[in-house]
Amino acid sequence: MGRCLRAFRRGRPSRREPPVGRPGLQWAALPGVVKVEPITTARVLRGPFDYEAPEGAVVGTRLIVPFGRRDVPGVVTGLAHESEHALVAPRRVLDPSLPRELVELAFWLADEYCSTPARALALLAPHPGAKAKTALYAELAGAHDIESSVDRLSGGKATTRREEPTPPRLSDAQRALLASLPRFCGPDTAALRRLEARGLVCVSARVVRRAPVHLSVGAERPQPELTPDQAAALAAITGAAPGEALLLHGVTGSGKTEVYLRAAADALGRGRSVIVLVPEIGLTPQIVARFIARFGDTVAVLHSQLGPGERHDEWLRLRRGEARVCVGPRSAVFAPLDDLGLIVVDEEHDASYKQEGDPRYDARRVAAFRARQSGAVLVAGSATPRPESFRALRRLRLPERVDGQGLPPVEVVDMRRAPRALHPRVHEALAVARKAIVLLNRRGWSNFLTCRSCGRAWGCPNCDVTLVLHRAQKAVTCHHCGYREPVPGSCPDCGSTSIARHGTGTERLADDLERALPADARVFRLDADVAHAAGVLRAFGAAPGGILVGTQMVAKGHDFPDVDLAVVVDADATLRFPDFRAEERTFALVAQLAGRAGRSAAGGRVMVQTLVPGAEAISFAAAHDADGFLAAELERRAALRYPPFSTLIRIVCSAEEAGPAHAAAQAVRDRLGDQPALGPAALFRLRGRERAQVVVKADARRAAIDAVRAAVEVVSADRAHRAAAFAVDVDPQ
Ligand code: ADP
Ligand code: ZN
Ligand code: ZN
Repeated sequence: MGRCLRAFRRGRPSRREPPVGRPGLQWAALPGVVKVEPITTARVLRGPFDYEAPEGAVVGTRLIVPFGRRDVPGVVTGLAHESEHALVAPRRVLDPSLPRELVELAFWLADEYCSTPARALALLAPHPGAKAKTALYAELAGAHDIESSVDRLSGGKATTRREEPTPPRLSDAQRALLASLPRFCGPDTAALRRLEARGLVCVSARVVRRAPVHLSVGAERPQPELTPDQAAALAAITGAAPGEALLLHGVTGSGKTEVYLRAAADALGRGRSVIVLVPEIGLTPQIVARFIARFGDTVAVLHSQLGPGERHDEWLRLRRGEARVCVGPRSAVFAPLDDLGLIVVDEEHDASYKQEGDPRYDARRVAAFRARQSGAVLVAGSATPRPESFRALRRLRLPERVDGQGLPPVEVVDMRRAPRALHPRVHEALAVARKAIVLLNRRGWSNFLTCRSCGRAWGCPNCDVTLVLHRAQKAVTCHHCGYREPVPGSCPDCGSTSIARHGTGTERLADDLERALPADARVFRLDADVAHAAGVLRAFGAAPGGILVGTQMVAKGHDFPDVDLAVVVDADATLRFPDFRAEERTFALVAQLAGRAGRSAAGGRVMVQTLVPGAEAISFAAAHDADGFLAAELERRAALRYPPFSTLIRIVCSAEEAGPAHAAAQAVRDRLGDQPALGPAALFRLRGRERAQVVVKADARRAAIDAVRAAVEVVSADRAHRAAAFAVDVDPQ
């Protein structure tokens, strides 16, 4: 393939220069050359490549171009009048084009996250395989109503031989069919085709919109009158400067969503469009439902469960301006909307805003870029904002719940002497609670298995981790690579059948509770092993009583008014991670779960089990003191020079053997110049690959990113390191 590609040698614009045409060159009527970025994931093939310009090509035109021996999709990133290469014509032009701002965004993404424009464009452009769906559509031919069609038919006969007009030879069914037009043919295609043959009907293909099925749309209550705090927040948002970013820091139940809705209405009223980012649609259907209830068809929803066709249709509705509000998870930040006036990032603390694969972008940063690019206002909302946002953004406060309820009292339960997963006091509280939510951030039955005779521990053959028992699936599985094997009956090393199960996951806890509680208490389980998360949430919401047991999924923005008890089983599980965000995560998890309890006049309570009752993150959460936590956390980060006081960049080198992985990481580190870096440090083996990482902790973000990109480009191109793969993560989570 390499040889063929040389025909399209690159004429690459400098990275600093935005990919635009050359308006200075007036002498030729039309630029004859397009610079095309082929959408491929190969890192070594850097575009753009020159092609003959198709008529009307602009920056953003999507094409299919011959590339090597294949035809690949591509996007025009620049226009030129001449090329030093022999030009080839694109195969065809795809409609519609990508907005020019998104092409600029792709270059920014590639730069900011050490990726390539082609990979960035692959995120932004609709999948070229997806096509508009068409179906047969029937209209009355020529005439405007049935009677005249019928007259025409009978009149035509009348002029032939007989004097009196023939009664139209139409059955009642055929008349009814004609009366139902125009419409899609559906099951009547054959009958309508027969009428078409008689010249009565015209059948043609039309684009159908595949309307995605939205999760239950609750009846939207009439628009409430804003509280003074909400009104003040709204006024600040609608009066903000173009490109400004605001933090809406409001306790759970303080009416943040209502503020988003009003701000969106204001933007739409000014002819601008709106993007609303939410963590995970399956888990937060309520906010989507409220946007649809208020704005109807002007809302397009993008979510991971859409098929490629539905996604394409929603993309088209946005691109054509038929939909002006886009609601969706992180990728919705790429919605092809013109005239953006408002971008909302709901639950801005949520980790799902960071993408795991290359480019490892952070949708919150992308949102800020788009807001600046189009003069929109960015609103990041949360009850537990990130220290970064708390420090950098103008703060708007909603300190009280709309219903006037105080936040529920939180009891910290010391587990250092407790023999079981649940403290006896928690058991008692669960037995009398009407509805309770229990959070345990570990799925499965038990964490790991060991042989009681020889001590063998069951581990993953691909990763250096233990296998987790899932009893219902009759398997032990790896939570990192998905490897699974049947539950062992005996030890392969010593033959013993005595196998110990250690630890408790959600599956076992749900089972324990079902046994321990009165027979009429229903237990619902919600974790990544459960197929229909939204269904479980609905069932729990509709049930008169019961316990919802699950992972952090249960702490997302659900609004169940009758939950009177919330329990965190192992609050320091997140604290045990050796990560500077451990405190922040623990605080957010406990505070978010606490926000799920006591949303009614009956009030509620929260119990937090912990082995470290004195931990700051837990005490602040128990006191509902976000400001106190954030102040202390920012102080700690400043002292240790962690973000937002520095930029972290992680470079992970992996290979089948530990040696090459480590050598590649060392080579990267050696090429980083005077960038302050840590490592290489070995990481645990993952998916059959040994890994070593280098972490850059820099004051000057731009310079650090450029240094890392340069180092990785050189080392990855070095044949001595060809066994290694490289992943760069700017702002790792
Ligand atoms: P948050 O997003 O901050 O958790 P929500 O926007 O979900 O809070 O609001 C909580 C509840 O209060 C919702 O049922 C919402 O309809 C209701 N609500 C919001 N604002 C008002 C208001 N101004 N008056 C009465 N009810 C309101
Ligand atoms: Zn054994
Ligand atoms: Zn594994």
